[in-house]
Amino acid sequence: MRKTHESILENGFLGKRSEEVKAVTTDGVRVMMESALTARDRVGVQDFVLLENYTSEAAFIENLRKRFKENLIYTYIGSVLVSVNPYKELEIYTKQHMERYRGVNFYEVSPHIYAVSDNSYRSMRTERRDQCILISGESGAGKTEASKKILQYYAVTCPASEQVQMVKDRLLQSNPVLEAFGNAKTLRNDNSSRFGKYMDIQFDFKGAPVGGHILNYLLEKSRVVHQNHGERNFHIFYQLIEGGDEDLLRRLGLERNPQQYQYLVKGNCPKVSSINDRNDWKVVRKALTVIGFSDEEVEELLNIIASVLHMGNVQFAAEESGNSFITTETQIKYLAKLLGVEGSALKEALTHKKIIAKGEELMSPLNLEQAAYARDALAKAVYGRTFTWLVNKINLSLAFKDEVYHTSRSAAVIGLLDIYGFEVFQHNSFEQFCINYCNEKLQQLFIELTLKSEQEEYESEGITWEPVQYFNNKIICDLVEEKFKGIISILDEECLRPGDASDLTFLEKLESTVGGHPHFVTHKLADGKTRKVMSREEFRLLHYAGEVNYNVNGFLDKNNDLLFRNLKEVICQSENNILTQCFDREELTDKKRPETAATQFKNSLAKLMEILMSKEPSYIRCIKPNDAKQSGRFDEVLIRHQVKYLGLMENLRVRRAGFAYRRRYEAFLQRYKPLCPETWPNWPGRLADGVSTLVKHLGYKPEEYKLGRSKIFIRFPKTLFATEDALEVRK
Ligand code: ADP
Ligand code: MG
Repeated sequence: MRKTHESILENGFLGKRSEEVKAVTTDGVRVMMESALTARDRVGVQDFVLLENYTSEAAFIENLRKRFKENLIYTYIGSVLVSVNPYKELEIYTKQHMERYRGVNFYEVSPHIYAVSDNSYRSMRTERRDQCILISGESGAGKTEASKKILQYYAVTCPASEQVQMVKDRLLQSNPVLEAFGNAKTLRNDNSSRFGKYMDIQFDFKGAPVGGHILNYLLEKSRVVHQNHGERNFHIFYQLIEGGDEDLLRRLGLERNPQQYQYLVKGNCPKVSSINDRNDWKVVRKALTVIGFSDEEVEELLNIIASVLHMGNVQFAAEESGNSFITTETQIKYLAKLLGVEGSALKEALTHKKIIAKGEELMSPLNLEQAAYARDALAKAVYGRTFTWLVNKINLSLAFKDEVYHTSRSAAVIGLLDIYGFEVFQHNSFEQFCINYCNEKLQQLFIELTLKSEQEEYESEGITWEPVQYFNNKIICDLVEEKFKGIISILDEECLRPGDASDLTFLEKLESTVGGHPHFVTHKLADGKTRKVMSREEFRLLHYAGEVNYNVNGFLDKNNDLLFRNLKEVICQSENNILTQCFDREELTDKKRPETAATQFKNSLAKLMEILMSKEPSYIRCIKPNDAKQSGRFDEVLIRHQVKYLGLMENLRVRRAGFAYRRRYEAFLQRYKPLCPETWPNWPGRLADGVSTLVKHLGYKPEEYKLGRSKIFIRFPKTLFATEDALEVRK
């Protein structure tokens, strides 16, 4: 973060757009300064650390509003980029813009995602240090668009050979494929990513992108079998049905009408005006080829996608005994063909459960509800594992291999993290619990890394570090993840326990184990006021970003993520090559219990934190301006929530806790030397002494600044503004 405090006053235009700066410089210095002052009123400051009243949320939001009105969607908090989704195409992503941000200092140009991209790239090149860019924000705030803009920036501006061009193409083309299978239309976003994504872009010694690697997190599998009103299933289903040619659909046994499929009608929303499924199909089909999928692989992939649709249409009826049987023979016929399995075996597995009694295997019939559950579990497992297969396949195609050095290690990487932000709904379940836990972990990382780099800078400048007051959310992370007594451990324990374990016994166990924790409340434990807004099936966590009530309904089921053993056995016999890779026969003989969903997520998060810790981070915080997906609308209540959940005020406080700015001596002296007769026109001695003489002459009080080895540290923006204004008056 050191670099970002540089050149904050390079052009003296605090909060002014570079375009305007360039426009007026020809008219002379005086004009420049006057417009600088009025610009501060009109378009706000380009860095929140320059706000006089930096603890005021109202001032923060007012600054965002001013800038948003002027289409200035980007603002910094130090080196953190805050971005507000404009919901319209802005002319700020052209090749000229990319050129403008290449190799310039952070503050010489107006805030932009390209500045962050370029800054990371240059740090990687000059310091040879791995970088990562962490993008967060709620659904629809612009995270995925941001990650695409960064990728495009590198694709256009980094050096390229023929070999590199292929890598660039594959990197870019991996997006439409992953979006087809992992994104869906939701109420919040027409193209909502339903999985978390971390992508490494690997660079060689010349700074050219030579490979990539993707890690995926927690795909929302439940969407395969159910969608809320106004939402859709994953894009790929509609793309295939709308875009696939006649022959293909015939082979897959599909009709060109999404309404025919139970798994596509739940949200009652087959068409979306902003989405052209038929066109997208063409894009995805081509992208699959560019990435290197063979025709056979595409065929097998589509067989699976079609089979999921057929699964949804498998219907059951019950005999008098209550035992279910299948009423839709055609579906089974197609399923057997597409999955490459025995039809009769599949039928039996969908309506029975294998149990072991007195050492003997028995097939116990399922009732209607159980059979539907088994069917949906199969659809979710097949889709979820195919998605993971897809990511692995893309990774193989992006894998870097240096033929000259016979190595698969690139010189350095830039990682992009595009992951769900903090979620608070009316009804919060297991998914929100995982997502918000993830955000706690990221917040912890942020605090650790920000404070660490601040501290390092102080040390290297020989300035005493003054401890910063901040809330350390480790206590909440521990509450969730601690071994034996954390919420996840307790959940796993209930999942393992035979007998009467249920969501409610899980809740009771939470009460008896972590009931005394300051960040945990339930209906029973709450005081009167809180109790009123909690149901008996909820527990509340006091997250760093606010409180959230989680309904325990479905926690055990979702955490177990069970697929009946006999269904697994059938799929393991599949002749579809993708499925045989996804469903390993060893799983069947493995006596060890598979990891639960929450534990898997916890472990993959721990790995992610390790990866991120080893890199130099940059942050992009995305904000959604309104719920209507409309341009020009600034919904203050909504934005205030996000400022809170993103921890932006806290972020600013940490930034400002020590010194608001730091400037190298020569730059500071160069700019302000006209303000002091002893430093004007030239200071003959040591730079540090010159700066010291200058600020004493200006009347800086000792508590307002400190002099380090190479830089002056200034505590408050007002000191600096006053000096700027003095400069203007003089001229
Ligand atoms: P998220 O990934 O945070 O859920 P997206 O990146 O998918 O959100 O953005 C949602 C929608 O908002 C996009 O489909 C696009 O229409 C619009 N959008 C986001 N960022 C921008 C931007 N920088 N310029 C124009 N439109 C944008
Ligand atoms: Mg997204």
